[in-house]
Amino acid sequence: MEKLLISACLLGQPVRYDGGAKALHDPTLERWRREGCLIAACPEVQAGMSTPRPPAEIQGGTGAAVLDGTARDGEDVSQAFLSGAEQALALCQQHDIRVAILTEASPSCGSRTLSDGSFTGHRVPGQGVTAALLERHGVRVFSQFELKQAERALQDSRA
Ligand code: SF4
Repeated sequence: MEKLLISACLLGQPVRYDGGAKALHDPTLERWRREGCLIAACPEVQAGMSTPRPPAEIQGGTGAAVLDGTARDGEDVSQAFLSGAEQALALCQQHDIRVAILTEASPSCGSRTLSDGSFTGHRVPGQGVTAALLERHGVRVFSQFELKQAERALQDSRA
């Protein structure tokens, strides 16, 4: 059974910066859970960050720029964000994962939009650090609003 990587907060794990979760209730997700194909990861917690923790937003770019060293996450958490991304990639490689479902707008997991670094709730197009690293290594990343697309990608990768 091919595995999917999923943000742990989408499975109800209380790992978000504010100590909460972002539990997703969806029949497709429930089926994947029953089939045992979900591998949960929270890059920030796996990097050793505490829960709760101060909110972080990427300053001066997107996750790709953090990977390239031209932008940073918040005060001095870029190294932790990079470490978390590398650990998520290692999980994907360990389980031969080619599809990930990550929480939208997070500076680690966002795959389509990000907060703009102003801590005002304004979003801009872009990917978080983990999403950018996974895509650089061939993992297709979808948000929790794109489960149908993720399912098609999973079927394609099984073909
Ligand atoms: Fe959820 Fe990703 Fe943030 Fe962890 S880093 S709380 S998995 S959005």
